[in-house]
Order: sequence, then structure tokens, then C-alpha cells
Amino acid sequence: MAITAPKGTRDILPEESYRWIYLEEKIRKLCALYRYEEIRTPMFEKTELFVRGVGQETDIVQKEMYTFEHRDKESFSLKPEGTAAVVRAYGENKLYSQPQPVKLYYITPCFRAERPQKGRYRQFHQFGIEVLGTKSAGIDAEVIAVAARLFVLLQIKNIKLYINSVGCGKCRGDYYEKLKAFLFKNLDALCADCKKRYETNPMRILDCKEETCQKALQGAPFIVEYLCEECRQHFDEVKENLELMGVDYEINPRIVRGLDYYEKTAFEFVSEDIGAQGTVCGGGRYDGLSELIGGPPTPGIGFGLGLERLLMLTEDSLSVKKPPLNIYIASMGRQAEKKAQQFVEALRTAGISAEKDVMGRSLKAQMKYADKSEAENVLILGEEELKTGVAEIKNMQTGRQHSVNIETFEQFIADYKAGAEKG
Ligand SMILES: [Zn+2]
Ligand SMILES: [Zn+2]
Repeated sequence: MAITAPKGTRDILPEESYRWIYLEEKIRKLCALYRYEEIRTPMFEKTELFVRGVGQETDIVQKEMYTFEHRDKESFSLKPEGTAAVVRAYGENKLYSQPQPVKLYYITPCFRAERPQKGRYRQFHQFGIEVLGTKSAGIDAEVIAVAARLFVLLQIKNIKLYINSVGCGKCRGDYYEKLKAFLFKNLDALCADCKKRYETNPMRILDCKEETCQKALQGAPFIVEYLCEECRQHFDEVKENLELMGVDYEINPRIVRGLDYYEKTAFEFVSEDIGAQGTVCGGGRYDGLSELIGGPPTPGIGFGLGLERLLMLTEDSLSVKKPPLNIYIASMGRQAEKKAQQFVEALRTAGISAEKDVMGRSLKAQMKYADKSEAENVLILGEEELKTGVAEIKNMQTGRQHSVNIETFEQFIADYKAGAEKG
């Protein structure tokens, strides 16, 4: 039996990979405008990094990581998300000794053993940015603006930005007591996961998709009402900066994000076009993360954005063109084919995309192939052309022809370019 790809993975074939390249180029250009630089971290890390940096109690670590032991019994995991590795790299490579903040972006595959569903894969791709080294609320707004601009750039409509503050260690203690007191009478109604969260991280109950849990939460207090002075002021500044930058937002006190390390700013971009699981981009501030993984104290903020979902949303608006075939050289006879072999390579060296027959096709079949490949120009080489040293290049769009010298390559290229300019 033929071997198939693992469940939950898929191949990105050329037709589609053009769309990926297009999207990635847009992202890179945007990042350059905001002065973010690319970082590439390994596909796998020590498992401990994610246990500490994503959170022992999270679904990601508990159920979804691809973890394996190497020969020396050290445990590694494929990266399930992008942030922890970037923060590790910041400390390990002493990026704190560079001018701060350090603004980074990545485009990377991530791996999670989730139940496959539409638009979700076990190997999926994320674009993310991380800013390390500043607590400034202005940077929170900038990070959010990068995502907002990307959606505008890609003409994605019906997308909404929700922001919240999830407080800090100081204000959370009080809030947890209030939330737990509120939920206490409904403890039995919570799902098994939330019963655990009740003890370890009650705020994450707000994030639960179970209906019974959502019901139990009706009328529950939100942390945004219990922020300490510092957090409240930070949140006000984030809002003010978003307004200064012209980024529309809505406050949604239910946004807590799935990961344990967020504090203060949390945000999500939600699409109204892809149903209930409409979160396209999520992020927030994680000032305690670096220390959590044994690094230097470093404030940070960032987001992750699923590229599969982004592509789903741009299905209609992205018109991606394949790179053109500038010229196809058709040939008849062995001598002409030799010349064609020589010429296509010389053309490519001169920066002109070129192809010739490699299938032993008849002239008629070669012309058909050129047509299918949407060749911009076709050159036919036969006995007659070899004898006279002159051939005709036909522009397939205009039907116009012009003569080219084929005796020397230099002359040929010069004639080709002169003809191309005239169209
Ligand atoms: Zn606080
Ligand atoms: Zn629940």
C-alpha cells in the first residue's frame, strides 16, 4: 500500500504555495515597515521549556505536544507555539545587551496533536511578533497595530479587535478570591478541566467553551473591574495609544487567552466569517515569562497568527500570479535541440526564465506545451534557422514577431531584449 502523509498534515502543492509566498512577502514587508527583524528558532526544544513557559496545566502541554526522548533520554518536544522559544533565545543570546526593545518576528510551522478539523492541522503555520525589553503601553498598541494593518493590507473584512487587561500578580490574587467565591455555589456544574482550573488558574474558566461552564459564569466578576493602579493605568494608555494610531477596538472582559503567562494586555482578532472558532490572531503581554524559564527579568509582548486561517480568509481577495515563463524554445532535430539546450541555460543566466522540450515531443506538441505554460515568447529552431543564423521570436500575446541572430549568444540576447522592449 502506498504510504500516505500523517493524519492532520497536508502537502502544500505549487498552485497553493504561490499564495503562501505572496502572503509571506506581504508579512515581511510589513514587518520591515515597523522595524521587526526575523528570528528562526529550532523546530524542537527541551520539553521543560514548554512545561514552564506555556504552563503545566494547559491543554497544549497536557494533551497536544509531540514529545520524544532522544537516545540519552533527554526529553524534547516539537514547538507547539512560537513565543517560549523566542524568549529563550533572547536570554540565551544575550539580546538584552543590544539597544532595547528588541523587535522580532517569525514565520514557523508549529505542531499540536489536536483533533483535525477544518482549517486546523497538526502541523500548522504561525506568523508571530514579539517585543522584548519594554513595559511601554505604546508598544502594546504598536504590536496590535501590526496585526490590524496586515488585515487591512490583505483586504480582510469583518474582523474585530477585542482587548482586555488580565491584570498582574498583584491584582489577580484579590480577583481570584472574588471569582472563586462566585463560582463556589456552581462548582458541580463546571467541567472536569474547569474544576482543576478552579484550584490552579480560575481565570481560565472564562475561556472554557463548555456550555455548562459558560452558564455557571453568568454574572461572574471580571478582572478588569479589579485592576490595581498600575494595571489600570497601563490599560488606559494602551487604549489611548490605539486611538492615536487609528486602530478600532472593543473591550471584551472575557478575553483571557489560553496560556498562563499573560498579564496586563490581552487581545484577539476575531473573524465573523469563519464561525464560532473565529479567533485569527491572539496575543498579549507576558512580563513574567522570561524569568519563568530561567532567563533574565524581561518584559515582553507579542501575538501569534495562524496562517492557514489567514489564507482561508483571503481566498477570494488574493489574486496570485505565477512567475512568468519569458521564453520557450521549441526545436526540431538534434542540432537544433543542442542549440536550444545551450540557449535556455544562457538565458537563465541572463535573468530570463526559459524552457525547452525535455520529453521528446513533436513540434506541434511543444507548441501546445508552450501555450499551456503561458510562455510569453516562443522561438522555433529548425534546420533552416541553423543554416541562416536567424530565427523569429513570436510574442504570444501580441502575435508580433521579430528576428534574432542566433549565431552568438551575446547577439541573441541583445536582439531578444531589443524585441522585448518593442513588445
Ligand atoms: Zn495589577
Ligand atoms: Zn469548563
